[in-house]
Amino acid sequence: MAVPACPSLINIFVRFEIYNPTSTNISKYDPVGPGVEIDLMDHDSLSGDDLLDKKNTDENGLVTFTNRDYPSKAGEKTPDIYFKARVKNMKLVNRWTPPDDWSTKGWTDVFGRPGYYPNWTPSDLGTLDDPLVFRIGVEFHLQLSYTRLVSGPEEWIAPPGIPVLAHAYNGVLGQIPLIGIAFRNDNAFRTDKKGQVHGLVFNVSPDQKVTFVIHFQIVDKSINLQPAWVEAYGPGSARSPREYYWITDGSGSDADTFDAITVPPNWIGTPTEPKKIRTTVGDKNVAMFFLSILYEFNAFLFAITGKQWKGFGDGITYTLTTLGGTSYSWPVGKINIDPRDHWNRSVIVHETAHQIMWQEADIGTIRIGFEYLFVDGKMVHWTQLLYTGFQALTEGWAEFFEAIFCGPSQPGYNTPPWDVSSVDDNKKQFKSTHTNFGKNWIQLSPPWDGIGQYVEGAFSDALWQMYRDFVVAGASTEPHVLEVMDDYEVVNGNAWVTDPAVQGRFQTTIWKAVDGLASRGKTTADFIDTIRQVSLVNWRNLAGYFQSFNMFVPSVDGKSMPTSSPNAGGGTATITGQNFVDAMQVVIGGQNATVTVQSSTSLTCTIPAANPPAPAGGSLNVDITVWYQLRVPAFTGNSPATWPTQMQPALHLPGAFIYQG
Ligand SMILES: [Zn+2]
Repeated sequence: MAVPACPSLINIFVRFEIYNPTSTNISKYDPVGPGVEIDLMDHDSLSGDDLLDKKNTDENGLVTFTNRDYPSKAGEKTPDIYFKARVKNMKLVNRWTPPDDWSTKGWTDVFGRPGYYPNWTPSDLGTLDDPLVFRIGVEFHLQLSYTRLVSGPEEWIAPPGIPVLAHAYNGVLGQIPLIGIAFRNDNAFRTDKKGQVHGLVFNVSPDQKVTFVIHFQIVDKSINLQPAWVEAYGPGSARSPREYYWITDGSGSDADTFDAITVPPNWIGTPTEPKKIRTTVGDKNVAMFFLSILYEFNAFLFAITGKQWKGFGDGITYTLTTLGGTSYSWPVGKINIDPRDHWNRSVIVHETAHQIMWQEADIGTIRIGFEYLFVDGKMVHWTQLLYTGFQALTEGWAEFFEAIFCGPSQPGYNTPPWDVSSVDDNKKQFKSTHTNFGKNWIQLSPPWDGIGQYVEGAFSDALWQMYRDFVVAGASTEPHVLEVMDDYEVVNGNAWVTDPAVQGRFQTTIWKAVDGLASRGKTTADFIDTIRQVSLVNWRNLAGYFQSFNMFVPSVDGKSMPTSSPNAGGGTATITGQNFVDAMQVVIGGQNATVTVQSSTSLTCTIPAANPPAPAGGSLNVDITVWYQLRVPAFTGNSPATWPTQMQPALHLPGAFIYQG
């Protein structure tokens, strides 16, 4: 009796992996893990697909099907096989939700071998050492960049925190995407510091195309960058603002679509070599440019304030208007950039810096509107204008940030410091009080009567000099923020930003001063006085920066002392006034008195011995002079290069005191 030949065993080796962007594994692919059920299926279009066998994956995501035959329910000798991974309960990294199951039908394995075998004549598939390897879903690895239409390098990578959505559709350009990946602000794929986004999508069919939608939004909680947007006036006649985005299946040079299945493997780009997509077109570039600057701005503030910067709590919206006019920062949370300024870093910084002050100093939309529309009827201002303490504060503040982000007096930008040795009194704000009224152009100094605090250029100059020489001090010869291109690390080239000493000085001067405005007036004098209160120890030094530009100047309004003294001196004189600082001197009869500054409004001194003395039995009338220390910027072009110190009289009283011989 013939014994039928014993058919040999047929082995199928198949392994499942999934991309894991958070893995420490260099390959970044994790096996699906043990216990994932893998179904060996037979496709049957009439009776429905049949289950031929099932196995659970091992630790390496591997299953081995071993059988002598794989008959289908219909008794088919050549079933149409594929695999189905039941991944629903698989633990997935990074908040992604896997589908119930994932079929290999239509996909290829990582080496290009098919995931579907129609009319399969049973034979081995794969080996233990070389199994079929399927990666679940379609992964995408992109690097976003944009083109700058200004001088310098053309290509810049996109900032971190830009959301990217993947859409799948059935292949006709312009068709409405069929499948939208669930998108929420807290669940989006977002660019990293290399402008890269690495993501994984499941609900895509092998016959579909994938396109990407990049919204011009940004958020980065690691630096308290709250959500910000760019909105644009829509194309055509519709002039209502709308959120702006870039969809890669559009037309134009920045269009790009991808087949879901590329052979091999099923991915777009690789973790180490992401697919580059770059917008080169008009306003999409501009939107990316705005967000890049906002990112830098926020990263800088977060660092230099020692994380006290909480971000723009209500978010920021940039309007990318096509309407000519003027750029402005109003109402609170909204910034409008004129087309002529779309590539002007300094203007974008300026308008964004206004929003810091609106928020930190608690200056509301109505107040801003009042100051700009009613006090300044034309919304016109310039650096040398003698105007109001509010105007000088808010504009000088914004200009100070221009210097931080663009560098001082950079070509192409109009940044402080400026030579404001003379100022324009054309607005005649000081009609009733100002001695130089009517001259239009007057010297900022002397007469040292505090007019600098009404001049935005003087205030921004003072802030910039204090920042450069005191806050940053020796930590860097370039105290402005070098633009970041490659990795959006604010410390790249700007190491001083993370110097704790620099941060501490920034906090106790500039940051506490702007925060302090929330509970007091909104003028340069209020700002400077807060610095004085917070930094009493350093005030003698800091006062010089402001007094150099004719702000917060000491004045004397009274004295209390004996009318006369014997030649030996020794009595006490009390001088009262405003804005007293250390290093004040009182000179009586040509002799320095020993001075103790008691407060910003009072000092005492000991009357010195007379020299020369009054004659015996006679008397000697002498002068009293009160001096303060002044540092005067000596401009070279626009740059104050040196800071000579000089003593300046705050009061001179000829013949005001008598020594008795
Ligand atoms: Zn402004």
